[in-house]
Amino acid sequence: MGTLPPKGVWQDKFRQLDEVWPTTNDYRAASGAPGHRYWQQKVDYKIKVALDDAKQRATGSETITYNNNSPDTLKYLWLNLDQNQLVKGSDPINARTNDGDAKESFGSMRLTMAHEKSTQGLMVSTVTDEAGKPLPYIINGTMLRIDLRAPLLPSSTVTFSLAWTLDVPEVDVFRTRGGYEYFKDDKNYAYYMSQWYPRLASYSDNDGWHIRQFFANSEFTLEFGDFDVEITVPADHIVASTGELRNADKILTDAQRQKLDDAKTATKPVVIVSQAESTAKESAPSKEKKTWHFKATNVRDFSFASSRKFIWDAQGHEVEPGRTVLAMSFYPKEGNPLWEKYSTATLIHTLDVYGRFSFPYPYPVVQSINGNVGGMEYPMLAFNSGRPEKDKKTGKLTYSSRTKYSLVSVIIHEAGHNWFPMIVNSDERRWTWMDEGLNTFLQFQAERLWEKDYPAQRGEPKDIVDYMKSPTVRPIMTDGESLDAVGANAYSKPATALSILRETILGRELFDFAFKEYATRWKFKRANPADFFRTMEDASGVDLDWFWRGWFYGTDNVDVSIDGLDEYTVNTQNPDVEQPIARKKRDEEPRSLTAERNEASAKTDDFFKMEVDQKPELKDFYNQNDRFTVSNADRNKFNTLVKGLEPWEKALLGVGEFAYVLDFRNIGGLVTPVILGITFKDGSTEQLRIPADVWRQNPGKFSKLIVRKKQISSVEVDPRLETADVDLENNAWPRKIVPSRLEIFKQTMPPSRNLMKDMDEPLKKDEKKDEKKDDDSPTAAPTL
Ligand SMILES: [Zn+2]
Repeated sequence: MGTLPPKGVWQDKFRQLDEVWPTTNDYRAASGAPGHRYWQQKVDYKIKVALDDAKQRATGSETITYNNNSPDTLKYLWLNLDQNQLVKGSDPINARTNDGDAKESFGSMRLTMAHEKSTQGLMVSTVTDEAGKPLPYIINGTMLRIDLRAPLLPSSTVTFSLAWTLDVPEVDVFRTRGGYEYFKDDKNYAYYMSQWYPRLASYSDNDGWHIRQFFANSEFTLEFGDFDVEITVPADHIVASTGELRNADKILTDAQRQKLDDAKTATKPVVIVSQAESTAKESAPSKEKKTWHFKATNVRDFSFASSRKFIWDAQGHEVEPGRTVLAMSFYPKEGNPLWEKYSTATLIHTLDVYGRFSFPYPYPVVQSINGNVGGMEYPMLAFNSGRPEKDKKTGKLTYSSRTKYSLVSVIIHEAGHNWFPMIVNSDERRWTWMDEGLNTFLQFQAERLWEKDYPAQRGEPKDIVDYMKSPTVRPIMTDGESLDAVGANAYSKPATALSILRETILGRELFDFAFKEYATRWKFKRANPADFFRTMEDASGVDLDWFWRGWFYGTDNVDVSIDGLDEYTVNTQNPDVEQPIARKKRDEEPRSLTAERNEASAKTDDFFKMEVDQKPELKDFYNQNDRFTVSNADRNKFNTLVKGLEPWEKALLGVGEFAYVLDFRNIGGLVTPVILGITFKDGSTEQLRIPADVWRQNPGKFSKLIVRKKQISSVEVDPRLETADVDLENNAWPRKIVPSRLEIFKQTMPPSRNLMKDMDEPLKKDEKKDEKKDDDSPTAAPTL
């Protein structure tokens, strides 16, 4: 019902997306699953790296074995040199912009100055083939191309080696995802080694070589493979790494190995290296070296951290019957007492929640490392910031509730990235939401299961409203490097959309099955957006193209207005029933003001008396019977009508119910289910859920007839705030007064400089500098 929009105005908000999505083929099926000829490359690494703690430099060599599983012949290979984004004059540096005003923060200014004289970058010294002969190569920004001596045929393998050095960047200066942190109080370093070695770029069925430069914003994708890595560091360092330690007998003491063994079945974290032990090492650094040997199977990348400052705790957790994962945390004393209490416990909670929503964690270890990197994930290991504050005078350690909950959230988030994108592989450099959004959705589930009223920042529909209203909102399906407001766009909005899909549109049963199916199908494989969209529809059995179109491809928001509510009672067409009702209605209408005043005046002034009352002979039949009088002719007509009706038609005339026509308008443009909270005059309530399909004919407005036995007193749209409706003022009928508190403030002017008074102030001597916030205080870096 209702009028249709004219042809030029109508939009098909339900138009199918297969016109937009890539055509399916043998590699990617129309169901959203990997096709029967799905393939991906495999890249294995043997790396030796040594850290020079005096120069903060890493020197390494690596041998890469590249397995071409594609049906294509490859003449060259591309590698990522992400560290080259820091080379002076690089495109990522020269493409930086500022806001255009004459203001710049100290930190941003320091970064600009550091870029000006940066010598950072991966200095590749040799590229050689298996025989040790040099291979031709060219460096193109953050990429390196190796030209193979002979084309690499399908189902064949090539092995080659590189040697390189890296001046490890200082995280606080360069705001990188890894690097080193300097602790000036005890003059020690911690290294968070990320994106640190030449890494083979991805080659995929839909993109060929993933050749996009690293501009430092959106992250990366890589191929799966096996790693064998030897890491040489000062002998008193503790190394946390992707993979499993293979030479614990040479590296760890008997007591430490025993504790690690105990940790596997412990019910709370077991301390492997205590705060007292790590603190003792700070003032007497070792001159010796040790080599830690790690192996990792089927990982997308390899990262590690190293410092003599690390405290180390561990606890085993059974992720599926018979298989235990070791959750471990590494942190300097500056992280306590927060880290010893929350880090490993949070890892275990993450294993539980993510495992339930997708698949059991497949790797042997999961690790959380405290560093000044805001938050960044790598396989089996993540860097997380967040430390208590130390009172400069008393030395007392305290932390705000924000610091605590941010830490729990960032550990869930970064450990959660193991699932998306480290195991369910996606390319963040193109589609940031595919890992950040899906991961933030599960982070929200984990937060809601941590404690009652957990201060979750992302996932609740009402919390996305400000972004959805903002004029710079962009489609979620925007290239990672072109995003604005990345946190809102690629983290919060997809997480919220999925939350709405789960709680409001599909329901938990259908959603959870489909989401788990997506995770399972693409575990250790590379998924694209359409694979996710298609799987969610295929497995839930619900056409969701309108939902993806609205939430992922568009910039509309949800704003449904209820514009009217008309009440009807069913017309029985029986004149003996209907005419008295019509008369009553007439009598309830306001009377003519002229007639009313005439009657009042007639009491004292004969002029106003009615002519027919003064001359009764002027009255006739129509002074006794009006248009509401029922005649036998009316009754006969009704009886004839009733005789001609089918029994079910008769029944409808007999019902004594209330009918309502509700009018809705779609102001925001995004089509959505319409959830109504109906309150009846007797105080009872009802929830009515109208599916989004109601907008198919006219996405701008619709009217709906509902019939109830009881009289309605009010109707509210989205009473539980489950659809992210951006304007609640048009959600109630009758309109409600929205109560708020008016704050009255005193207008103040900034004090003007009073030079006469200022000149009288004596010069203060030797003022303590410690009122100023130190540069090494925890940075409020974003979660990545
Ligand atoms: Zn993230």
